[in-house]
Amino acid sequence: MKPRIKKISVIGSTGSIGVNTLRIVEKFPDRLKVVGLAAGRNLPLLARQVEKFRPARVAVGDPLLIPALKSRLKSKKLDILSGPPGLVSLARDQEADEIVLAVSGSTGLHPALAALQAGKQLALANKEALVMGGELLMKAACGLGNSLIPIDSEHSALFQLLEGKNSEEIVRLFLTASGGPFLNRDPRSLSRVTPEEALSHPVWKMGEKISVDSATLMNKGLEVIEARYLFQTEPGRIKVLIHPQGRVHALLELKDGAVLAHLGIPDMRIPIAYALSYPDRWPLRLPALSLPELKGLTFLEARPQRFPALRLAYSALDAAGTMPAVLSLANEIAVEAFLSRRISFPRIVELVARVMDAWKENPAASLEAIAAAEIWTRRKTEAVIQRWR
Ligand code: MG
Repeated sequence: MKPRIKKISVIGSTGSIGVNTLRIVEKFPDRLKVVGLAAGRNLPLLARQVEKFRPARVAVGDPLLIPALKSRLKSKKLDILSGPPGLVSLARDQEADEIVLAVSGSTGLHPALAALQAGKQLALANKEALVMGGELLMKAACGLGNSLIPIDSEHSALFQLLEGKNSEEIVRLFLTASGGPFLNRDPRSLSRVTPEEALSHPVWKMGEKISVDSATLMNKGLEVIEARYLFQTEPGRIKVLIHPQGRVHALLELKDGAVLAHLGIPDMRIPIAYALSYPDRWPLRLPALSLPELKGLTFLEARPQRFPALRLAYSALDAAGTMPAVLSLANEIAVEAFLSRRISFPRIVELVARVMDAWKENPAASLEAIAAAEIWTRRKTEAVIQRWR
């Protein structure tokens, strides 16, 4: 029997996850078809993708970019949307069966919610959406697998490990972290770290924001929050292990003492393809994992006391409400400030801590409350940066 072709839209198509998603589409043209593409401002690449995959609808980050995109395209009839409303309408598009949400940062929240509310399958790479609006998204989703599948490699691994288990069997979830480029560096030298150094990740090749987040370990903090909502687990059961080889993506400890691990080469095409093929698996024909070549796997407990970004993540979960959103937004602004050389590397996490400390109201996380927290966080974060200058 010929498999049915799944129609997908890729929101964030020019970033690293988006590009890898389209590589999967190219490998499986009889199973996947692209009906929508959205990108921020990389028009040359977006135009090439549009010519190649011929989606019915496209979105760009800003309405002012529409004429420039049109001038690069042969077909003049294409429906071009723009800005945040463009992403939301692409996420709800009738044509699409599955949405791959691969934008980075807080822009992911509204399209993620829109896709789930429209009954789409959501393949989620944008962790900030879950961190900011975890409860809202999980309420809108009809269960993991049925409508929401994580792409984040550790969470894809846990999603696979948890299949067929019930919650009483589970003792702990372990997320692994490479530790980033500065794991073994003297902490006193970190104030001189440049954006270029922070962007060179030892294991994964990724976008700018997530690379800096990996260097501060905030990425793992965000992932702890992500896991708490995705798997509806108490934060105390979620642990982080520093594992520099990056081959074990997650582990699951069960009540009889068995520990299951998920291993693989560090290649995002594996979790992306699984989010598209689930519950099936497709032959990706990637290089096989060779454990003998690695000559050993090491694991180090990452205690929140030693890694301030992890401590902040657990305390945001403890405070609940809009605190995880404040953490995520403050971090996003802090990373931008570091990349534009307005603050030093150690100040990123310090800035997030200051802003979280000042957030006293902390209402429950409705969309309105998150929007209000966003306005406050932007103002507060900027004020602290100004004071430091
Ligand atoms: Mg990850």
